[in-house]
Amino acid sequence: MAIRLQFLGGVRTVTGSMHLVESETAKVLLDCGLFQGRRDEFYERNSKFTFCPRQIDALILSHAHIDHCGNIPSLVKQGLRCKIFCTHATRDLTKLMLEDSGKIQEEDIRYVNKINRRLGLPLRKPLYTRQEALRAAKRRFQVISYNQQICVAKNIFLTLYDAGHILGSAIVVLDIQEAQHKVRIGYAVDLGRKNLPMLNDPHMPSGLDYLIVESTYGGRIHSPIQEAKNKLRDSIIRTIERKGKIIIPAFSLERTQEVLYFLSELVREQQIPLIPIYVDSPLATEITEVFKYHHIYMNTKTQKAIEAGRSPFEFLHLHFIRDQKQSKALNTEKRPMVIIAGSGMCESGRILHHLKNNIEDSRNTILIVGFMAQDTLGRRIVERQRYVKIFGIEYELNAEVVIVDAFSAHADREELVELIGRCMPLKNIFLVHGEMDQCKALADVLTQNNMPAYIPSWREQVILA
Ligand SMILES: [Zn+2]
Repeated sequence: MAIRLQFLGGVRTVTGSMHLVESETAKVLLDCGLFQGRRDEFYERNSKFTFCPRQIDALILSHAHIDHCGNIPSLVKQGLRCKIFCTHATRDLTKLMLEDSGKIQEEDIRYVNKINRRLGLPLRKPLYTRQEALRAAKRRFQVISYNQQICVAKNIFLTLYDAGHILGSAIVVLDIQEAQHKVRIGYAVDLGRKNLPMLNDPHMPSGLDYLIVESTYGGRIHSPIQEAKNKLRDSIIRTIERKGKIIIPAFSLERTQEVLYFLSELVREQQIPLIPIYVDSPLATEITEVFKYHHIYMNTKTQKAIEAGRSPFEFLHLHFIRDQKQSKALNTEKRPMVIIAGSGMCESGRILHHLKNNIEDSRNTILIVGFMAQDTLGRRIVERQRYVKIFGIEYELNAEVVIVDAFSAHADREELVELIGRCMPLKNIFLVHGEMDQCKALADVLTQNNMPAYIPSWREQVILA
């Protein structure tokens, strides 16, 4: 029997990453991400596996983003018994992300069932509850450090390298050594960029036979990350002059901490006046605690700054809010301030209250620091639609909208070509985790640079050795 790789999720799309590697003696799963889509498709795709979870010998988790770890509770519910291997930071972040995901799914089903009950339709169950997520997070996670090789299943050895994408993220390398076959596979999904705040640059492994790599921005070029800091500074100064508030919808994991990193620099360098900065999100607050605890995963510059008492998460006038009452109290405050809140795409959570209260006032600024998908409130704000609905009521969008697109934790086209180039020679490069146009654009540029490229389809299986 040969060594096979099957593409089970995050193929020609960006959510639900999952890959199965099978040797003669073992089955190893790479990531188990949550597939996002319309409700029915969401339940169908996430609740059905093409393999028996009980038969998996090892699950390797690359990082804590929900599109990579978010379906682990379904696997556990369906009998997964093996260990889950990842870095220490990934384990701690994943626990928080899964619990939050369970909570969101319970809320969504509560809303659906309210309608179904009224229409006499059958009631539904969440994909998994908060309790089930917590149970899954209590599974046997085995944490390992970067650059340390361990045996995860018979004849299969794992090494994690720093992917430079989010805190604790890893490029996964599997060395499979069987009597008949030997193969070294790299899995760089997702892959970071150089010079990201706090993080080390990606550490590309050598000696690979195959590379599975993301192509989220396979056809795009990002602005330099430094531009993010300058845009933050300029819009904060402008808003303070108008005596307005700055509202920043941000994902709780990594983006919130990146924004804080730049804000801490702007405050310490006295580039912006001192105004209160609120992180109004229990999840982002907890995640920031994990960042503080795991500063060992950050680059030397940030570690040194923290040791010298200049933490990006502790500076003058920075406040973290967990309590709902305190969150509501911000509405009555009239002075200029920065409010960072979730969700990242303005679909739920405390950001909705802040938008509702501030969107109609032209003195205020809504600062967009992340990707906004189609059909989200965030996207309507990005498009500067004149009226937007929040909690079913129409509001006039008068606040200034500033889009900072320099924030991205994914390598762009040029960075991908350079990083992948470092792994050459390779027998093949599998392009996943990207919309088809981005995969194609990356395949073209790799081919132009004399590198192989292949875009697999969903559930396709390839023989590696
Ligand atoms: Zn990611």
